Amino acid sequence: MSVSPLFCTPGGLDYTLLWNLSHIDPFSARNSTVLPPGTYWGQYQDITKSNTHLSVAERLWVAWYAWVQNDVLATGIMSFLIHELFYFGRSLPWIFIDSLGFFTRYKIQSSKVPSLREQWDCAKFVLLSHFTVELPQIWLFHPMAQFCGLSTSIPFPSLWTMTYQITIFFVMEDTWHYFFHRALHWGPLYKAIHKIHHQYSAPFGLAAEYASPIEVMILGFGTVSSPILWCAFTGNLHILTMYIWIVLRLFQAIDAHSGYEFPWSLHHFLPFWAGADHHDLHHEKFIGNYSSSFRWWDYLLDTEYTPDALKRRRGEKVKAKKTQ
Ligand SMILES: [Zn+2]
Ligand SMILES: [Zn+2]
Repeated sequence: MSVSPLFCTPGGLDYTLLWNLSHIDPFSARNSTVLPPGTYWGQYQDITKSNTHLSVAERLWVAWYAWVQNDVLATGIMSFLIHELFYFGRSLPWIFIDSLGFFTRYKIQSSKVPSLREQWDCAKFVLLSHFTVELPQIWLFHPMAQFCGLSTSIPFPSLWTMTYQITIFFVMEDTWHYFFHRALHWGPLYKAIHKIHHQYSAPFGLAAEYASPIEVMILGFGTVSSPILWCAFTGNLHILTMYIWIVLRLFQAIDAHSGYEFPWSLHHFLPFWAGADHHDLHHEKFIGNYSSSFRWWDYLLDTEYTPDALKRRRGEKVKAKKTQ
């Protein structure tokens, strides 16, 4: 897919130019559109008329930037809304499942179903953290993305490009998460920072981001810096890929805290995928299973907390005693 060179700048699409061009004759534009061009949908209609080669998603994207007319604000609002929408949207089915007693036989710690009160208290804490700690940082996202060379232009990258880049981000973030999460279990750091996240020994979806602001910054750095580092080395990253990565990482974190292990859970098909089965035990026992998405770091560094790993360790101890 190509974009008219008229609308391109070396850094990608110039949204302001596009907006101006679509408003050369505001009177005729107004007469020919059902919605006034001052609205977002009016903007979308204007762009659609002169850019039929763009996909619907690309038109929605360009209309958003053209309508807001301030790239920092446009990226900031979009980032914040995506985070809120997908965090609470993904948590909602788990709230219903807990409250209505669906799937009780798949609950890992079946005697510890969170009450609605507990979930509401947790949601309030998370919301407060989002508005006070994360919102100001999200506002800095566009300048940082521009500084690091992330593209906000159209056309969007191909599905293959987004897929392989997001796979790499999962591997990078998991490595960061393993070592820093393990460090947070060191006595003084645990007491000062990580203890808050472990308030729930039987986790639930909403508890994924129930953590100290310092922990959110330390572990969240792995989520944000993995794509940034990738972009610094390759110069090839679109901000949309970053959004999709963050949404998938949110889904991973919420599902890992859900407290439910199903016969159709992903790790049954991808044995190296961590999932709720892995992280629930971490919350229950306060030890082992430090990774976020995969099982390989815990396996390689012998910090797995699974019935098999415990059996293996017991066997090794017995063997060591016999040889003494
Ligand atoms: Zn922990
Ligand atoms: Zn957790």
